[in-house]
Amino acid sequence: MSKYKRVLLKLSGEALAGDKKIGLDYDVITSFGKSIKKCVDAGVEVGIVVGGGNFWRGRSSGAMDRTRADHMGMLATVINALGVADELEQLDNCGLEVRVQTAISMPQVAEPYIRNKAMRHFEKGRVVIFGCGTGNPFFSTDTAAALRAAEIEADIFFKAT
Ligand code: UDP
Repeated sequence: MSKYKRVLLKLSGEALAGDKKIGLDYDVITSFGKSIKKCVDAGVEVGIVVGGGNFWRGRSSGAMDRTRADHMGMLATVINALGVADELEQLDNCGLEVRVQTAISMPQVAEPYIRNKAMRHFEKGRVVIFGCGTGNPFFSTDTAAALRAAEIEADIFFKAT
């Protein structure tokens, strides 16, 4: 019996890039995936908020319009969400069931964020990856992770930076 029923894990872009510092390091993601699978196999419901700083950070965009720069940052989180989802699904050829939900609608790519639908996925043992942060500029994915943790009533919120 696990100590926690439902957890929210924040994976920063930096963590996903590993030593490469930019882009995605699949050795690192596989290692995260193996730990996540152990939790899911133990009956823990797992939600993940991904950062995007391995591709883009709004606040480092110089003279660019900040809202536009933050939109780019949120899109970067979707690249990470899809990359992590794919890895979790393929893990050891017996991967996890995963759904990606985004706070900015892009229905051809992922489900829109719907809290109750996420809860239903958890009940079915699926991992839910939340992309696009809060969906609003001037926020960070840490804030989004705290928000989603509260919304899904996570027992604990972990952050891998
Ligand atoms: N972002 C945003 N609103 C949010 C979450 C993120 O505008 O609710 C943008 C912002 O530009 C941010 C980028 O997405 O710099 C990537 O997120 P963050 O810097 O939090 O990623 P991390 O540092 O965790 O990799």
